[in-house]
Amino acid sequence: MSESATINETHAADLKSWVESANDGACDFPIQNLPFGVFRRRGGAEPFRGGVAIGDQVLDLGAAHAAGLFSGEAATAAAQAASDSLNGLLAMGPRAWSALRLALSRMLRAGAQDSARATHCLVPQSDAEHAVPARVGDYTDMYTSVHHATNIGRLFRPDNPLMPNFKWLPVGYHGRASSIGVSGQRFRRPRGQVLPAGASEPVFTDCKRLDYELELGIWIGPGNRLGEPVPIGAAESHIFGLCLLNDWSARDIQAWEYQPLGPFLAKSFATTISAWIVTLEALAPYRCQWTRPADDPQPLPYLEAASNRERGALDITIEAWLETAKMRAAGSGAARLSHSSFRHSYWSIAQMVAHHTVAGCNLQAGDLIGTGTQSGPTSDEAAALIELTMGGKKQLMLPDGETRTFLEDGDAVILRGWCEKAGFARVGFGECRGLVLPASA
Ligand code: MN
Repeated sequence: MSESATINETHAADLKSWVESANDGACDFPIQNLPFGVFRRRGGAEPFRGGVAIGDQVLDLGAAHAAGLFSGEAATAAAQAASDSLNGLLAMGPRAWSALRLALSRMLRAGAQDSARATHCLVPQSDAEHAVPARVGDYTDMYTSVHHATNIGRLFRPDNPLMPNFKWLPVGYHGRASSIGVSGQRFRRPRGQVLPAGASEPVFTDCKRLDYELELGIWIGPGNRLGEPVPIGAAESHIFGLCLLNDWSARDIQAWEYQPLGPFLAKSFATTISAWIVTLEALAPYRCQWTRPADDPQPLPYLEAASNRERGALDITIEAWLETAKMRAAGSGAARLSHSSFRHSYWSIAQMVAHHTVAGCNLQAGDLIGTGTQSGPTSDEAAALIELTMGGKKQLMLPDGETRTFLEDGDAVILRGWCEKAGFARVGFGECRGLVLPASA
């Protein structure tokens, strides 16, 4: 079994850290998590560099490496993670990632020999700001929730909601890497061509149907050579870890532009991701069987593997919250809009990578794959406003009396995610926050 699927000493539920805040059971970053990002002290002139979240702190990987706190393969990996992007670490592969994780786990454990020296490598998360953790060469967005595809399809084609290819392949399109921003991203409401209802000609206008999409992002590790597909059995060794991803969507622009080649300007204006990458190894305890209903088409051989059936799915709880400008001013807290689990995905992460490369496309370290909007089987598990409001026909009532069909200027959308399982620690993804600014004048 690969490093990323094996339960080992780093997952033990009884591990505690000498960083006390990591031992609070509700914290996203206990010692069993150890997610990677890049950070610097807020507002300073310091360079961004790699760090690992532990409790309410960040361990500075470059500082820890310089202090001689790593040895062997872990030291080589930590040196790669000391720069302003994690591409070097991502390119190293599961053996190096696992060695670094084990060294971090032992260094940060209660009673660790080096805790006094490691203390000097901590920066409070409240003092830190983040950048996109790696240079994203290519970004791909997939469409792997059968519930989302059915709900959306029903709005446009009530008798035939699912396209005939959906159950045969993980549908996707090539997205835009340059507009990916880290949590905290603020972007202008997009403008573009929209076809008004009943009209025969489009108008140029501010987007009036701005939406979020609750997704996960898959960070690619070592790439494959052009023309050499990744077999499904090896696919997970090409995946470093997962983050939260909001694929903001301008539904009115999308409706007019998307045929025949798919979304273009409706999604390329912004994509927001969480600052932390939770490694596939940290997610090992929360794997579950990947299943396919017996009446559905079974995967073609290149998308089929025993390992995928046994543990290809991941039970990750995901949520989207809305914080309006009014809620922010009142300090009343955000309202939860969506709640689901990634285990409902029709296609697994291994199948997405195998399919992405099967025609010969080469993935590269730092590539990012969006999983597609992860709606669950019930109506309250809808993961975008277009589903929750039936295409804008039904208003959502918010707890403070406000209503929404689509996003307004000043709205912030906050994604959250975490894993829980009896006998294991709770590990979380932090938050993925983005704010809608008014369209340019
Ligand atoms: Mn999407």
